[in-house]
Amino acid sequence: MVGIVVVSHSAELARGVVALARQMGGDEVAIEEAGGIEDGEIGTDVERVRGAIERAMSDDGVLVLMDLGSALMSAEMAVELMEGGGRVVLSEAPLVEGAVAAAAAARGGASLDEVRSEAARSFEMKLAQLGVSGSDAAPGSAAPEAEAGEPDARAEIPILNEIGLHARPAALVIALAGRFDADLRLAKQGGAGPVSARSLTGLMTLVARKGDRLLATATGPQAAEAVAALEELASGGFGEGAAAVVADAPAEPQLLSEPGAPAAPPDAGAELTGIAASAGIAVGLVRRLEQTVEVGDRESDGAEAERGRLEAARASAREAIERDREAVAGRGAKAEAEIFSAHLALLDDDALLERALAGIDGGVSAEAAWHAAALETAAQWRGLDDKLLRERAADVDDVGRRVLAALTGSDAAPAVGEGIVVADELTPRDTAALDPELVQGIATARGTATAHAAILARALGIPAVVGLGSRVLAIPDGTPLLLDGDAGTVLVGPDDAQSSDARERARAAGERQRIAQKHAHEPAEMRDGTVIEVFANLGGAGEGARAVELGADGVGLLRTEFLFLERAEIPSEDEQVQTLTAIASDLGGRPLIVRTLDVGADKPLAAVPMAPEANPFLGRRGLRLSLARPELLAVQLRAVLRVAAEHPLKVMFPMVSVASELDAALELLKAARAETGISAELEAGIMVEVPSAALLAEQLAGRADFFSIGTNDLTQYAMAAERGNELVGSLLAGPQPAVLRLVRLIVAGASVHERPVGVCGELAGDPAAALLLVGLGVRELSMAPPLVAEVKQALRSVTLSDAAAAAEQALDAPDAAAARAVANALL
Ligand code: PEP
Ligand code: MG
Repeated sequence: MVGIVVVSHSAELARGVVALARQMGGDEVAIEEAGGIEDGEIGTDVERVRGAIERAMSDDGVLVLMDLGSALMSAEMAVELMEGGGRVVLSEAPLVEGAVAAAAAARGGASLDEVRSEAARSFEMKLAQLGVSGSDAAPGSAAPEAEAGEPDARAEIPILNEIGLHARPAALVIALAGRFDADLRLAKQGGAGPVSARSLTGLMTLVARKGDRLLATATGPQAAEAVAALEELASGGFGEGAAAVVADAPAEPQLLSEPGAPAAPPDAGAELTGIAASAGIAVGLVRRLEQTVEVGDRESDGAEAERGRLEAARASAREAIERDREAVAGRGAKAEAEIFSAHLALLDDDALLERALAGIDGGVSAEAAWHAAALETAAQWRGLDDKLLRERAADVDDVGRRVLAALTGSDAAPAVGEGIVVADELTPRDTAALDPELVQGIATARGTATAHAAILARALGIPAVVGLGSRVLAIPDGTPLLLDGDAGTVLVGPDDAQSSDARERARAAGERQRIAQKHAHEPAEMRDGTVIEVFANLGGAGEGARAVELGADGVGLLRTEFLFLERAEIPSEDEQVQTLTAIASDLGGRPLIVRTLDVGADKPLAAVPMAPEANPFLGRRGLRLSLARPELLAVQLRAVLRVAAEHPLKVMFPMVSVASELDAALELLKAARAETGISAELEAGIMVEVPSAALLAEQLAGRADFFSIGTNDLTQYAMAAERGNELVGSLLAGPQPAVLRLVRLIVAGASVHERPVGVCGELAGDPAAALLLVGLGVRELSMAPPLVAEVKQALRSVTLSDAAAAAEQALDAPDAAAARAVANALL
């Protein structure tokens, strides 16, 4: 790949331009800075430029970009003095635009001459975006490139992401184009192009915004693959999946959330297995939730009248959503209540609304237009690559149904009687409307444990099993069910003995919970006096106070991803300091372990473009990404250090696989100390969640101050079972004997250097598994805040030696269920 050197009179400017260019070039392109002179003075230094060129040199050569006057002279002299070989070209391009365009082109595999010409044309991007005529650029139009005959493949591609094909998505397109042996070109329908998909300048001059459609054409041996890959990238919003989507694919279903074709009803005694979404046991009768709202066949009274009706219906839906938000917050689930804030935003979503208004203007009634718009949007979200976004389709259904109900004067969420609610997929609205006094449990055909409805069910304390498949919908209303929200099963028509046994278990669990809550704020002291720290996992800004309220002794895992998600820019150091300080203050002096950014290709991050990966869970996640983008980690570490000067903070690196990664992270921490001048105590630990880290525990313990085992990932990697895949759920269910053996190995490695070991994966919040973990030597457990009290209570009921004996036995258990049974015998 062509290397790039940025020469500037100012070291700061050169650094800034390199950081910008790196956004386009990723870490594949060598981009070096040569700014300023000795002692931070303004000027250019031939030796610095020469060094930078030599560092950036590759077989493909180096392009040098310069700012003013003497920068050119220094660059020319540096080239003359070069000792190694290699081709160097000095670029005439403007520094910032040129560096950015050159980096993108280099990443796409362009030659030195192509990179130079891309940089030289970079000024056209700005002209086009401003719609200003330049000497040789027409406003808003790319200089169309010659069409190369009939293409081998073509596709129409809608722009779905909020800010369109701006620079970062364009960089992904360029990287994608570079991977295929094909000439991929893009044109905006009814607008500019075609331009090469390897040209940032060309792509920018398309000025493609959300809602536009691109025509992609390709010629060459891999034309079809290139177009298909582009379609996939575009359908995920170019890595910015959080943005709203636009579609005009026709859809004609009559109901929102249409259930799949009903299967044959299961026989009495049949056990359906789904996903355990909210703990607890329920025995009751099936109560089918009628979720459909009829659209009716009203004719339009004219566009103006229909627009007015839609506006009024949205206003009434807005009030209803606000009422639900208050009601859920009033039940103590403040964070969960914010789900309804997202619904308010959906109600005003431009894409949804514009589509509905277009329908009205096309002559249909407000209800028909809104219904079609909501259906299309939800269908499109369901088709997205990103799992979390797919789950949000239920939220679109929900908002769609509310407005439709207001338009037709029907009830959006009819009341259900006492029993176990069975539905295709519950929306947050449905869940909030359920009366916990009447609703004993929830069983749904679709959904996952991380869907909003599941989160609400947990917050409301209603046992739930989701993702049971369409068979559950075939169970007739009034059929007795036994729902086990811990095991994720539903037993159809349990016999008397099974029902009474389950009722007894539910009663005992209720009693345990009552006692646990009473002692939630006391330490988890085992019967022999060993005290285990029971911490909370947090994933949001306002959750600290609630964790303390629920008895957490501290925070064992702050997932800082929330700071970065759904935003176009990375949060500033000051903003991170502010958020971390607020959380630390809410903890009132309790310890707080801050995990550095743990995203990767499975969770797109709009602020950091990531090329699509075939196996994202095995890709550039966690610390791997942070080390590839050290500027991200550096900002985080400076923020953590600043807060650590005032509060008891620790920092933790995720997804460490080899010791050298940790060394690199610790180097960055050292640099952050030097930059901030803060010498405050700050322990630095790692998450052990990759089997290689478990095997290297002793070596890593020599470098890290503490370990926290991420059993979610450790289980997925050890068992070769992807954590979101329901089909391999039994391999993911804990406590797997193989994972317990890895825990034993990790504890042994840590003990050589006397390092403490905690667990912050889901296993820590499972009372039975928690005993086994403690039996293996874990001394800190961190979990979802509502689980703290019960885990503490379970720990109090046993001695350390009993737990150790049970753990020893569990290591030899044939599977996770048998391992759990060993621990359950102690409870
Ligand atoms: C884990 O992998 O167990 C963990 C706690 O990290 P996350 O679930 O955030 O990947
Ligand atoms: Mg993890």
